[in-house]
Amino acid sequence: MKVPLLDLQAQLAPIRDEIVQEITRVVDSSMYILGPDVQRFEENIASYCGATAGIGVASGTDALLCAFMGLGIGPGDKVITSSYSFFATMGSILRLGAEPVFADIDPVTYNIDPARIREILEAGSDDVKAIVPVHLYGQCADMTEIMAISEEYGIPVVEDAAQAIGSCFPVKTGDTVSWQRAGSFGVAGCFSFFPSKNLGGMGDAGLITVQDEDFAETLNVLRVHGGKPKYYHDVLGGNFRIDAMQAVILDVKLKYLPDWHRGRRQNAMTYEGLFAKTGLVEKGLVTLPAAVYRADADDPIQGADYHIYNQFVIRATDRDALQRYLLEQNIGVEVYYPVPLHKQGCYLQQSSAEWSLPETEKAALETLALPIYAELTPEMLAYVVEKIAEFYKTKGLL
Ligand SMILES: *Cc1c(COP(=O)(O)O)cnc(C)c1O
Repeated sequence: MKVPLLDLQAQLAPIRDEIVQEITRVVDSSMYILGPDVQRFEENIASYCGATAGIGVASGTDALLCAFMGLGIGPGDKVITSSYSFFATMGSILRLGAEPVFADIDPVTYNIDPARIREILEAGSDDVKAIVPVHLYGQCADMTEIMAISEEYGIPVVEDAAQAIGSCFPVKTGDTVSWQRAGSFGVAGCFSFFPSKNLGGMGDAGLITVQDEDFAETLNVLRVHGGKPKYYHDVLGGNFRIDAMQAVILDVKLKYLPDWHRGRRQNAMTYEGLFAKTGLVEKGLVTLPAAVYRADADDPIQGADYHIYNQFVIRATDRDALQRYLLEQNIGVEVYYPVPLHKQGCYLQQSSAEWSLPETEKAALETLALPIYAELTPEMLAYVVEKIAEFYKTKGLL
């Protein structure tokens, strides 16, 4: 059996005609960049996320860069974020001449640990211009704590929600829980529509959600080289525009996103049941991803999107050997991410800062992403778990 890490064709098959029809419409419209189709898509995403407005951009990376530019972040400024993320989180800070300040992660969720953010700010907060939690793998960071810190210190939050479109966080008031989606907490939420994200385009695309109309206008202007009116540039922006082609493709897919999220959640629970039968978790050989907000959901499958499982990431004993073994068995697995940001070559060349980030470094050595996309069959899931158990048996550990 072959189980790829992701199968975009399986997702496309039932909606291909609908998408091709929309692409044809854009081809014939001659309106290829921005325009009414982009505007409709922006409104739909903003409404889905519970944000005031959406600004479509060319990638998730441009979403971060543009949001940071909108906050006026530049040389001498500091931005608190996680070192356990995709490179773009740090890259967009460095490209503006600003300095990343790394807070270690919570070992259970792999998301930035609010207690570490607090420690950093207590030691000095003067130059800190933003806090950037990354909702890693599709589960929100602790936004109650992070927003409380943001308010206390008057430092804006920019959510790197590239992996977390639609992911819900339980906001508690007394005994009642209301679910709020990623990208509706901070001054900006940055999304990526890279093909492998839960909502993926057919090329690069991204979007920024905002809560404030004035900030939306700032970003709209930055997106077109800071030109307002056209050809008059009082501020320096960039070409961050999104194509109409991507907008219409994504707008079609947005209708199916809740179903795909549900399918991934169902698969995660199937994995949990399958792993429970192997003894791998009890023996400490494998740690499954914790859906920390599931307990607040009235129905774990049909209810709130407490985790959208962009990735299903386990911790595994002897991770590298397990990865090699599974790849040999035609099972697609991947490490997200093998090198923490504070250990990347381009960062080390320009910074001599020393970081103590034990949980980040441990996670980079132990984590492994398994296939989790919605179209996986129960047989495929069983095969993955069977092969993992087989690996530890051949090593005499199980
Ligand atoms: C995918 C991703 C990005 C960048 O998105 P692109 O669209 O590829 O530029 C940024 N941050 C995180 C956490 C991501 O996963």
